[in-house]
Formats: sequence, C-alpha cells, structure tokens
Amino acid sequence: MRAGFPDFRLGNVLATSFTGTLSERHGDAVERIPTPQRLVDWLAVSGLAVDSCTTAQLDLARELRESIHAAATAAAIQDALPAAAVRVINDRSAQGRAAAILTPEGKRRWRLSSASPVEDALGVIAADAISVIAGERDGKLALCASPTCQAAFFDTSQSRTRRWCDMNTCGNRQKKARFHANQRRSPRSAE
Ligand SMILES: [Zn+2]
Repeated sequence: MRAGFPDFRLGNVLATSFTGTLSERHGDAVERIPTPQRLVDWLAVSGLAVDSCTTAQLDLARELRESIHAAATAAAIQDALPAAAVRVINDRSAQGRAAAILTPEGKRRWRLSSASPVEDALGVIAADAISVIAGERDGKLALCASPTCQAAFFDTSQSRTRRWCDMNTCGNRQKKARFHANQRRSPRSAE
C-alpha cells in the first residue's frame, strides 16, 4: 500500500468492494481512490490490472461507482432503481471488452484489451453489479447498520443477518460503542 493514502477495504464481491472505495458516505466521507494511480492500485488488487489511468477515466470510474451505489441501495430497500444510475451501469457494461479466461488451475481470470483496459475493467465491475442487483447470485443486498456508513453490501451469510458492510471497521466500531454504553449503564459494584 502506498503511504499517505487510505487503505482499501476489500470484500469478496467485486461490485461492492468497488463502491466501498468511498466510505462513510453519511459521515466524514473517505475517498480511497483520490488519484488515477490509486484506481490503478485498486484494480491491480482486484484482479483487473491496468498499466495506467487518466483523470477522465477516474471520473468514469467514480460515476460508475456512485451509480452502482445508488442502484444497489435502491435494490436493498426494494425501491425502484434510479434510471440515470441504471443507464451508467449499462453503458459501462456495454463498453467493456474484457474476456473471461479459464486458467489451467481452473480459476477465472479477466483478460483486458490493450486498447481500452480501464474501460474493460469498468465493464467487468458493471457486469458484476448487474448480476448482484438482478438477484442472480446467492446472497442478499443490504445496507450497513452504521449510521455514518449505510453502504450497500452483499450478505452471503447463511442466515442473511449480517448487519455491517465490514466487520473490521463498521462492525467493530458499533460493538465498541455498545460496550462503552453498557459500561456507563451498569451500576458499579458496592465497594
Ligand atoms: Zn459500513
């Protein structure tokens, strides 16, 4: 990780890991891809390595990210999908030319074209979002219970009762807050 930039929060669902590059949307928002190079870094750790990225491509990426966030949030609360967000997701999906590749070890990899690797990577992310929002995958979209976060995440727990987008950050913070509240409430034992 590069010094001076916020770390990435990587989940096992590409589309919601991507929306997680902006966190605390309802608090002090943290932009985790503040520069084109940080998008390059994020794509590399997400199996979509590209050589470089322009500011215009970063703008495209962020537009896609916020569109996925809006559509996934609507889907999580069973609201109508916002038309503008759906259009952006579909445009990015249609523009991508990535090819799914099966490795000899039986893993899936993405091969991006040499002409437009960033657009191809965004296409993969958009297609991933489509499969999640369309309910094709085993899991359920939900919103993080942290009031300052409210991120849409994909709950693949058996009971579908996960409350936080990320256990290590939002989940832990809530637990700590509850612990301290309980400490204050509980009467001290007689001395
Ligand atoms: Zn959260």
